[in-house]
Amino acid sequence: MKTFSEFGLEPKVLRAITEMGFEESTPIQDKAIPVAMEGRDLIGQAQTGTGKTAAFGIPLINKIDIKEERIVALIMCPTRELAIQVAEEIEKLGRFKGIRSLPIYGGQDIVKQIRGLRKKPQIIIGTPGRLLDHINRKTIKLDDVQTVILDEADEMLDMGFMDDIQAILKLVPEERQTMLFSATMPINIQKLAQQFLRNPEHVSVIPKQVSAPLIDQSYIELHERQKFEALCRLIDMESPDLAIIFGRTKRRVDELAEALQKRGYTAEGLHGDLSQNQRDNVMRKFRDGSIDVLVATDVAARGLDVSGVTHVINFDLPQDPESYVHRIGRTGRAGKEGAAYTFVTPREIDHLHFIEKITRHRITRKPMPSLAEAIEGKQKVTAERVLEILQNDEHNEYKGLAISLLEQHDSVHLLAAALKLLTGDKKEIEIELTPEDPIRAKKRRPDVRSSGRRPSGPFGTAGGARRNDRPYDRDRGGYRGGGGGDRSRRDGGRDNRDTRGRSDNRDRGGYSRPSNRTNEETLV
Ligand code: ADP
Ligand code: MG
Repeated sequence: MKTFSEFGLEPKVLRAITEMGFEESTPIQDKAIPVAMEGRDLIGQAQTGTGKTAAFGIPLINKIDIKEERIVALIMCPTRELAIQVAEEIEKLGRFKGIRSLPIYGGQDIVKQIRGLRKKPQIIIGTPGRLLDHINRKTIKLDDVQTVILDEADEMLDMGFMDDIQAILKLVPEERQTMLFSATMPINIQKLAQQFLRNPEHVSVIPKQVSAPLIDQSYIELHERQKFEALCRLIDMESPDLAIIFGRTKRRVDELAEALQKRGYTAEGLHGDLSQNQRDNVMRKFRDGSIDVLVATDVAARGLDVSGVTHVINFDLPQDPESYVHRIGRTGRAGKEGAAYTFVTPREIDHLHFIEKITRHRITRKPMPSLAEAIEGKQKVTAERVLEILQNDEHNEYKGLAISLLEQHDSVHLLAAALKLLTGDKKEIEIELTPEDPIRAKKRRPDVRSSGRRPSGPFGTAGGARRNDRPYDRDRGGYRGGGGGDRSRRDGGRDNRDTRGRSDNRDRGGYSRPSNRTNEETLV
């Protein structure tokens, strides 16, 4: 770890980094920034959440001449969500320097993007499909591009963007710097790098442990029909700041979000059937805390970097260890602690052990939260709220009423009644969810390649024979959940295509879900 001042960056860039609250560089930043600043081509490999965006963003921002009026840098990302995320980070890093950047992704009004392009951005952050759309319309030209970054390259290839990426790269001048970032380095990435990078320096950070030690992982064994009650109790008991609850299918997510709302929680669902507008809305509300429970499918929540998620609850056990690691990685971000709970039905216990084995992490068994614990948890929160008001002296206009009530009633009874009102009695509304089939430990199965896609990373053959696989912790592992990365991109979808028949393709991006008996389309 270094302080950022050791890299010899411009003061304005340093200031932006400081304002963002970054104190020390992450290991991938340590290694990548100096190489990138030399102008060399670079392959950067590190797992999700290790700060790859700033690893290329900082040297990029540092390098660009502010007087430049042409597009001099191009960042390609797999999905709109990730393009937006990267664009936000680039924007922050370039703020003081005055760098102009623009995200370009499918699903957004192309006219609006063309208007953005007129402001002469120096950096374009885009998904390959939509970029090609603009290139074909001649609204973007790449003749002056000096730096190209392929972000989350493994995911882009997983989503079938190889042809688009190649087409785009052929339009960029050969005299340029190219940087490729990826959580994994499968053979197709290596080939891509060979084709388009020149004598690249390979920097990688490969942590040993698969999942985050900062995440307290436990499971609760229960029956399917007990799950909803257990969920409500768990939320009451733990009173999360922000929680993400994972359901297996879109139907499940809808039902759960609705059921939670009926019980008085501020919850909303996120899955691939929502329009982009709806998705953005839900995410905005979750980020700003106006909802505190996000119910999501795997695919919808992957890669999303929301800080302050204190709890992940797997309402349904995920199919494979990779999903598990991704899901729990939504909490415990940026060095904060997080808790992950997983509901497991008796028939799924074997599968849970399998996940433990692959992730090399023991998941602690916890009892189902009791009603008493739930009530206690809720009361504690109420008491804290009351004490906060007391401390901040925000209650003066109630004092008169308090005095007159106290003249007629006992103080303990009075306060108890007020607390009850504040805590809000749980609404006893009967909730009926459609049951989901249990996940079972998988049998050996034929090569996943028969599905036409490579297994999604080292975990891809989860449960099956693990032949020809590298050891799973070689490529990723690490404190943030060993992920092949931000798979939100999968629901971000094939950008240009998702402007059309959107709702259904977006999530489908080809997640090779090994041997699942459920229809894929219901999963995302
Ligand atoms: P990756 O692309 O490797 O998955 P990101 O670039 O999305 O990771 O970074 C994950 C989070 O960590 C982001 O919220 C980012 O702002 C934050 N971050 C990045 N670098 C640092 C740093 N040096 N110190 C603190 N936080 C950082
Ligand atoms: Mg990233």
